[in-house]
Amino acid sequence: MLILDKELCISCGVCEESCPFGAITMQDGYPVIGDTCTLCGTCVDSCSVGALSISVEKVEQSDLDEWRGVAVYCEYYRGELNPVSLELLGEGRRLADMRGVELNALLFGSRFSGELDGVAEELIAHGADRVYVVAAEALSTFREDLYCRVTVALLRRYKPEIVLAGATAIGRAFIPAVAVTMHAGLTADCTSLDLRESDGVLLQTRPAFGGNIMATIVCENTRPQMATVRPRVMKALDRDDTRAGEVIVLEAGELVPEEGGLDSRVEVLESVAGVSGAVNIQEAKVLVAGGRGLENAEGFELLAELAELLDGKISASRAVVDAGWIPYPHQVGQTGKTVAPKIYIACGISGAVQHVAGMQSAETIVAINRDENAPIFNIADYGIVGNLSEVLPVLLARVKELS
Ligand SMILES: Cc1cc2nc3c(=O)[nH]c(=O)nc-3n(C[C@H](O)[C@H](O)[C@H](O)COP(=O)(O)OP(=O)(O)OC[C@H]3O[C@@H](n4cnc5c(N)ncnc54)[C@H](O)[C@@H]3O)c2cc1C
Repeated sequence: MLILDKELCISCGVCEESCPFGAITMQDGYPVIGDTCTLCGTCVDSCSVGALSISVEKVEQSDLDEWRGVAVYCEYYRGELNPVSLELLGEGRRLADMRGVELNALLFGSRFSGELDGVAEELIAHGADRVYVVAAEALSTFREDLYCRVTVALLRRYKPEIVLAGATAIGRAFIPAVAVTMHAGLTADCTSLDLRESDGVLLQTRPAFGGNIMATIVCENTRPQMATVRPRVMKALDRDDTRAGEVIVLEAGELVPEEGGLDSRVEVLESVAGVSGAVNIQEAKVLVAGGRGLENAEGFELLAELAELLDGKISASRAVVDAGWIPYPHQVGQTGKTVAPKIYIACGISGAVQHVAGMQSAETIVAINRDENAPIFNIADYGIVGNLSEVLPVLLARVKELS
């Protein structure tokens, strides 16, 4: 918080003028700090007599050593296990092995026998040592408050030092509430995770400042250390049915007997399933991506033809989505989707960091660009320097010939 030392203040009003957020007003000769203060520190720097300072209250937990193990919230909803759960188990396994601890999966569903049959085993086959299953009819519909309460109860009981969850619609909706309730730090949309060599603290890396830098964030004073990761960023382990693990089924009512039990403030009136036939570029093995170099929306017609021949889909940069050439579900990048196809053919895409953040995990990257210095060539496995209007027809003809 911002602290004023009235003894030192000379009522000059410079802090009021310097505040970029208009959060300071002079009243009775002293600065009064309003709600819009972001603790940016501009006023502190501007105060020539040192009357203003920022105090950062460090919350330090006394039981840090009691928190052990890695837990992954595995998203199972409407009869489907979200693939990001398996990807996170793969990464969680790596971290747990480095730490010499167990990897536990948290799984919610309506009924253990029947609905969740086989799901816990699948999680074990993908790396989990133990699966905590919470089954209750109330959990069959996603409701933030309920999912949050159950997750918090599990974390308080089993005390994992690291918690991972998918940055999906569901994960984004309730994991922040879990972090706030636990008084824990949370880093959203991590692109890589690691452990600090000296003390095993989780290093959580994600793009910051519009993707211009990669920031590594640590939450060293509180537990659990929580991170969300977008789908397709981490790699799932191959299924191994010889892996052994334990399944523990918990009675939801017993887990959250107090603080509202299984009641929810949310009443679900209607559920609308996703639009059928909606494009899902994240599942495609081949993506033919178009950028501003296509010059207009019609440019995508050739790309669609190429994508069809290669049994792939078309994707795009944000520039062309913003231009209205193609709808948003095709966008790849920091504010679009993260993809990891076998082949990514970038046509007329410059390779801005925000785009690359969403496709750099592709197995093979082919770039076509008329500018030999385009940054996309820095990450491309194969580069073609040339005009799309000349290169694409030749490429199409050759693919047709071969297929
Ligand atoms: C906060 C933030 C989030 C963002 N999120 C995303 C995101 O999720 N995804 C994303 O893509 N961008 C994102 N951006 C935008 C990003 O910074 C770039 O502006 C964008 O990726 C550029 O798109 P582009 O490569 O299609 O266009 P340009 O940068 O204009 O590049 C066009 C390329 O085409 C080449 N070219 C032109 N004509 C031809 C031709 N005839 N033949 C061959 N090559 C040709 C040019 O040499 C050039 O390299 C974000 C930006 C910000 C600030």
